[in-house]
Amino acid sequence: MLNVHSFAFNPFSENTYIVYDENKNCILFDPGMYDAHEQMELINFLNEHQLKPQYLINTHCHIDHILGNTFISEKFGLTLHAHQSEIPILNMDRASATMYGLHYHESVAISQFIDEGDVIMLGKHRLTILLTPGHSPGSLSFYNADAGFVIVGDVLFKSSIGRTDLPGGDYDTLIHSIKTKLFTLPDSTIVYNGHGPATDIGTEKKYNPFCGEM
Ligand SMILES: [Zn+2]
Repeated sequence: MLNVHSFAFNPFSENTYIVYDENKNCILFDPGMYDAHEQMELINFLNEHQLKPQYLINTHCHIDHILGNTFISEKFGLTLHAHQSEIPILNMDRASATMYGLHYHESVAISQFIDEGDVIMLGKHRLTILLTPGHSPGSLSFYNADAGFVIVGDVLFKSSIGRTDLPGGDYDTLIHSIKTKLFTLPDSTIVYNGHGPATDIGTEKKYNPFCGEM
């Protein structure tokens, strides 16, 4: 069974996820470490659990989700996996850093394009990729049926949804992504998102004020 560990990093309190299996293989999703202290926090967790990073993946490439990309890529020799439509978003990272008053950490480029229909294997465990645009044009979600979770980036939050006013964002597209891709997963599926607490599909289907029944 896969395990999921989360950190809240950087001034945006962005959730970085480590997904790991019983053989200590792991995937790093959206490493958002902003300074040496946050880098150490992540490295300490990897060391304590003796984890071996196999993949570096971005759900999407907004500035708060990419701040630790280069650190991870260089430390573990990993190439960055993300959707091709995120290239222009990643290319805006310098401007975004300036706009938000952040120190600029240039990200490595996306060298491995992934898309809906592709599968990421971690040991014997399968993560199915869903294309869920609307918050960002190439937002991807990663679903593991056995452990019953989906990593969604900033698509769906507890009682909220991702903002759609950033470049490449679109409200109707986002709602469509949530209803046709995420809401067709089992109700018990845990939703690990980019900010704030995890939730589950059943709860959001029922109570989310933007896309739920009520
Ligand atoms: Zn975002």
